[in-house]
Amino acid sequence: MKLNDPRLLRQHAYVNGKWTHGDGGREEAVVDPATGETLGHIPWLEAEQIRGAVDAAEAAFVHWRALRADERCERLLAWYDLIQANREDLAIIMTREQGKPLPDARGEVEYGASFVRWFAEEGKRTYGETIPSHIPNAALGTLKEPVGIAALITPWNFPLAMITRKAAAALAAGCPVIVKPAGETPFSALALAELAERAGIPAGIFNVVLGEPAEVSEILCAEARVKALSFTGSTRVGRLLLEQSAPTVKRVSLELGGNAPFIVGPDMDPREAAFAAVAAKFQTAGQDCLAANRILVHESIHDDFVAHFASRMAALTLGNGLEPEVDLGPLIHGQAVDKASAIVDDALSQGATLVAGDQSQAPGPNFFVPTLLTGVTPKMKVWREENFAPVAGVTAYGDDDEVIELANDTEYGLAAYVYTHDIRRIWKLLRALEYGMVSVNSVKMTGPPVPFGGVKQSGLGREGGNTGIDEYLETKYYCLGAL
Ligand code: NAD
Repeated sequence: MKLNDPRLLRQHAYVNGKWTHGDGGREEAVVDPATGETLGHIPWLEAEQIRGAVDAAEAAFVHWRALRADERCERLLAWYDLIQANREDLAIIMTREQGKPLPDARGEVEYGASFVRWFAEEGKRTYGETIPSHIPNAALGTLKEPVGIAALITPWNFPLAMITRKAAAALAAGCPVIVKPAGETPFSALALAELAERAGIPAGIFNVVLGEPAEVSEILCAEARVKALSFTGSTRVGRLLLEQSAPTVKRVSLELGGNAPFIVGPDMDPREAAFAAVAAKFQTAGQDCLAANRILVHESIHDDFVAHFASRMAALTLGNGLEPEVDLGPLIHGQAVDKASAIVDDALSQGATLVAGDQSQAPGPNFFVPTLLTGVTPKMKVWREENFAPVAGVTAYGDDDEVIELANDTEYGLAAYVYTHDIRRIWKLLRALEYGMVSVNSVKMTGPPVPFGGVKQSGLGREGGNTGIDEYLETKYYCLGAL
């Protein structure tokens, strides 16, 4: 991999400020999903080494929590500056291991860095309260204190930003972190560790452990010294980690799967809405928890909408993310392609219509040609499951009550999109949609100042915004009596 600074491509775990081999000699290959080329190898740590990371974090916590908030802020801002200064290398690493087009990878670096800057400042505002006393001659109040060691388990679809969104909040709050990135995309996490070290974040405060996912997670969940667990990934694994965290009663935050509805009102210009829906569906080749999976279009404009969607979709270029003009990269691996094919086959067997999506045109084994299905119904897998592929399903609806029922007909509740200019309809849908985030007439909705998270089986807790740091803070109540 050609980088301006080759030292950013690390192939060891990072524990207690040291680059670490696996004691058992186990390792895993990291593969470019676009070409199948092996990019490098990462070691798998053994159980004792994972516990060693907890020891290191425990020791380092004493000093880190004692720093003033503005001192922690300075280290985080130094980290932010280094991420920005190395943006191009970080983007290349991401495109190679994840597959997303280089401009999207640059965008993710920018997005990921923005959380570091936000939380660096937010750490200075973790205010406690003064409480009017109900006890004679007493002063009452609260202090905010760091919760302790935080384990951060992250997915491969956003290999950098899903780490900074958690780690920056935890570090600013005074907590050390142990990051377990996805095995498919460890190099972005390790490059972040290299930059954290250069930024003067002390040994033991930012650790990256690598290993067999179930093994590592089980150890971190069982450790009573790990006080918080923040996970982004599938609902299936999230449930498992919640269960594993119960014996030690951890603070658990879960950012899980989504199955976003994209509702188009009858008043909308079908072309404008279709272009927005394409943008909301095909980011990261559909491997996005915010992807518009269930496109619900008013029957009066359905056919026009579908025609515009199909022509916009046909203009998307599928290919290696390093090449210019590519809009969609590969899926992460072959199983993802198989899953997408099975979802399309299931829909067709139940009466959906394939408008576009000829898989014989795929430029390689991990690629899935953007696909448009119409006549999608709630019985189909494409409706029920998060497809995590460039497969868009369209359903026609008759009125607002029907579309609310359809939109909420899923176990997920992460994000919903609404396209209409009718203020009454906007308000009605906004109130009725069972989602943690609702975006009206905008594809872009996330960023550091806003709370990101879901309801139902899309998760627990919020990241970002003025509440994101609370996931890493305890409230200590005090009563000063006999004053
Ligand atoms: P995943 O659940 O398979 O993996 C996530 C992490 O958990 C990885 O680090 C993985 O190594 C680890 N893991 C996998 N199996 C495990 C096991 N048995 N025990 C413990 N840990 C295990 O998810 P993924 O495929 O990497 O990511 C895609 C999922 O992430 C999608 O469902 C997507 O919606 C979700 N996601 C959610 C958000 C959000 O903010 N809500 C953001 C991005 C992705």
